[in-house]
Amino acid sequence: MKVTASSNHLFQLTHLGAINCYLVREDDGFTLIDTGWPGSQAQPIMQEAHKLGLPIVRIVLTHAHIDHVGSLDALHDALPNAQVAISERDARFLSGDKSLDPSEPQVPLRGGYTVCKTKPALLLHEAGHTPGHIAFLDTRDRAVFAGDAFQTLGGVAVAGTFKPLFPLPALATWHKGLALESARKLLALQPSALDVGHGRMLSHPQEAIERAIRVMEQSLAKEERKQSHVA
Ligand SMILES: [Zn+2]
Repeated sequence: MKVTASSNHLFQLTHLGAINCYLVREDDGFTLIDTGWPGSQAQPIMQEAHKLGLPIVRIVLTHAHIDHVGSLDALHDALPNAQVAISERDARFLSGDKSLDPSEPQVPLRGGYTVCKTKPALLLHEAGHTPGHIAFLDTRDRAVFAGDAFQTLGGVAVAGTFKPLFPLPALATWHKGLALESARKLLALQPSALDVGHGRMLSHPQEAIERAIRVMEQSLAKEERKQSHVA
């Protein structure tokens, strides 16, 4: 597991060169953002927190895809007092319910989901790359933890933009229009850094985000034109 320190309060942990989670130092200990792939991740994540001298006091999940919640149960077993948070919507995927609500776009879910026995204690709200994907803002320095709302591996892109060098987030994106809305919301936060689920951390990311949003807008406009021809 590769560790990249971005400051004295932020550590990116990378597994298999492509799957990130983050240890964020807070007043009471570490917040762990995402839990990586199933199986072997819990031990190295806890060892890293231990080395850095703080306990993991909460685990927050950007969304319920398997490469973000994989080691949740193992971590929860080892750290039963750490508070677990996810969106209320994606919590349903954790419990094995993969139904869509009547109010949601009726398009098939994408990407891998897994059932977890951990019951999150805190439920949050939002949507995009999955029906309940959420991102987090560190209000101390305006770093945004974007999960898969963006990727930087294979190039900076909004979820749903196909990047040949790392296509998995695009293939796993549920709804491109909502993913684009999420991207705009995150840009409006004026982030100082973009810390994503897949790829390196990016500081001063605004221009790169604007470019990625334009690419997504153009590709959606193209798809719409195609669809109106078919209709
Ligand atoms: Zn994902």
